[in-house]
Amino acid sequence: MELATYRAEAEEFTSAIDREYLLHYSGRKEDFDLDPIYARHAALFEAATVEELRAARAPRELARFAAEGHIGREVKDEVSELARREAAAVVRINGDELPFRQAAVVQADERDADRRAAIEAARLEVTARELNPLLEEAHERAADSARSLGFRSMRALCEELGGLDLERLQAQAHAFLVSTDALYEPLLDPELERQLGLPLAAMRRSDIAAFVRAPRLDAAFPSGRALRALEATLAGMGVERGSVEVDSESRPTKSPRAFCAPVRVPDEVHLVFPAVGGREDFDALFHEAGHAWHYANVDRDLPVEARYLGDNSVTEGFAFVLEHLLADAAWLRRILGVEDPDPLIRYSQALRLLFLRRYCAKLLYEVELHGGELGSDAASETYAERLSRALRIDWPRETWLADVDPFFYAARYLRAWAFETRLRRHLSDRFGPAWFAERDAGDYLRGLWRQGQAHDADELLAETCGERIDLAALLDDLRPAG
Ligand SMILES: [Zn+2]
Repeated sequence: MELATYRAEAEEFTSAIDREYLLHYSGRKEDFDLDPIYARHAALFEAATVEELRAARAPRELARFAAEGHIGREVKDEVSELARREAAAVVRINGDELPFRQAAVVQADERDADRRAAIEAARLEVTARELNPLLEEAHERAADSARSLGFRSMRALCEELGGLDLERLQAQAHAFLVSTDALYEPLLDPELERQLGLPLAAMRRSDIAAFVRAPRLDAAFPSGRALRALEATLAGMGVERGSVEVDSESRPTKSPRAFCAPVRVPDEVHLVFPAVGGREDFDALFHEAGHAWHYANVDRDLPVEARYLGDNSVTEGFAFVLEHLLADAAWLRRILGVEDPDPLIRYSQALRLLFLRRYCAKLLYEVELHGGELGSDAASETYAERLSRALRIDWPRETWLADVDPFFYAARYLRAWAFETRLRRHLSDRFGPAWFAERDAGDYLRGLWRQGQAHDADELLAETCGERIDLAALLDDLRPAG
């Protein structure tokens, strides 16, 4: 296939998938059927096409798109069957029945720690019985498929085509875990006490979602204010709405979580969110807005791989920049009128450290999992061991596959956090601590957004701050206040 034809068809495919996703998850279309889209564009993902793109020295991102699509197609039956089983499964707790998916939400809202543990135990039991056999099949089929494309393992494929230096990131993740070890308990303990009334020593995995939910902080984040706060922030930077369409209407089957659907980059970008309140929903809205304004500002003359593909650490980094405003004292005072932002900031630091340590442990585990040398018993044991040690809670083995996003997305997040931390410091050095209210900062961000993902996060950081991605940059933000 000609390169120009391949690019055009890749764009049609990506756009069609995003539109299907948008219609289903915004609650405007009941079914979610990707099969006809894959069938219409089957030529994109043939093994021979992957080989052709690699041999022709086409842009690496196109070969990666073809390879990931090829593997995605190989496991699509398992993935649809998983979705079907997940949607149909019920958990039983003390004689009550709850839909499996809804049980996670109920658990996060539950005030009683023992009841949270009971819900989680029931969910894990369903995971082990109904989902894990299929997840294992899909995992093995994906690994076989990577090998049949000529790679030593899934890890090797992601390193070569995904441009990920996993060895370097692995070393940084390990160092981060060591250097935050002494910080973890002093930062977590008081926040867990405040939010859940229990110390780290008594925390269980089943408490994490309730800690993230943090209902005691809801007062600062009233429902109905989120969109206005976002609009005020963007207006302060002189950033216009452009092609972003915001959908805050409520519909019965609309996703309870905000999302961004970049259907046509940069001309049609949707930001969908449920009009609810609370810190977690503000967080999700600002995160997704970071994606939306990034995509909507991309230069339309860039090739498809720079507009839709590339290193997602970049778009995740921009998403984190906006999300982090919720942990910024100046922003909390000015935009939300919070008088004493300290408690919100201390909570955010604790939550951030929990997430960072979780993702470092996940990455170390995933590198082993996708290296292809662990059998399923050893893999689930390594998973539970690494997470237990990093978070100092008894981590269950059952989610050793359900917890893994394909193609090392965990690595993209970790790199994005490091990228965002440096970029945010750069914004504040250059435009002042209230950079979010400066038009020059808006112009500067627009200049970065314009480049789409033509450059990876390392290149972008070199261009802006003369540095490379380093997880050690995250340490500065985590020093206990006062
Ligand atoms: Zn994101």
